[in-house]
Amino acid sequence: MKKLSAAALCLALLFTRAQAPAPPPKVLVFFSLNVENDHMLFATQALRFLAEQADRKNFRVEATTDWNDLNEQKLSQYQMVVWLNDFPSKPEQRAAFEKFMENGGAWLGCHVSAYTDKNFKWTWFRNFIGAGVFGINNWPPLPAKLNVDDPSSPITKGLPTSFMSPTNEWYSWRPSPRLAPDIHVLLTMDKSNYPLGIKSMITDKDGDVPVVWTNTKYRMIYMNMGHGDKVFASPIQNRLFENEVLWLLHKN
Ligand code: ZN
Repeated sequence: MKKLSAAALCLALLFTRAQAPAPPPKVLVFFSLNVENDHMLFATQALRFLAEQADRKNFRVEATTDWNDLNEQKLSQYQMVVWLNDFPSKPEQRAAFEKFMENGGAWLGCHVSAYTDKNFKWTWFRNFIGAGVFGINNWPPLPAKLNVDDPSSPITKGLPTSFMSPTNEWYSWRPSPRLAPDIHVLLTMDKSNYPLGIKSMITDKDGDVPVVWTNTKYRMIYMNMGHGDKVFASPIQNRLFENEVLWLLHKN
């Protein structure tokens, strides 16, 4: 009888171990301090937003301003990387990021973190982001009406078909990332916004301006939002951000 109890206890322990929940996924957020003030304001608010979401949705967030943390050993501890207001400049940091993404890591990039121009030499990233380069921005920063391209995506779940996105500096891209075969656009600027800006304008000439998209070969989302202190002023848009992070972490 005693032996039986011991065996039962062992079984119970084994069962308990098998049922133990997986550790919460970890997110590493990169940002820079020596950037445009409006990009720093966004980063500060985004860090707070992510920390609050992590508490509610059971994941962990750590942040760093050291882009040398973009290395294989460090990244092996994380399921997802966020670039809030900058991008890596050193070849070894870029190589570590490529490997992380090619091996199933997740990435959320905001606003200037995907800024590329004709002189940008990181070809892998150009293709990753949809092969376009920065076209033009609106200035000053302004709100814009956005349309949801794919209402069936878990990333746009719960969003209306269109909504006013708070003040932001918006970028157009040439050519439109929509033309790249692996890019799936989730939100696009409504053409009723044109001309958008005063000193610098996005106009009819810029045509199709996607603002949130994913490359279907990767677990990644780029969103154009990320300028100034109004980005988190819309509960609708906040829902989008929440959906994005949960989808990247395989939680929705
Ligand atoms: Zn900006």
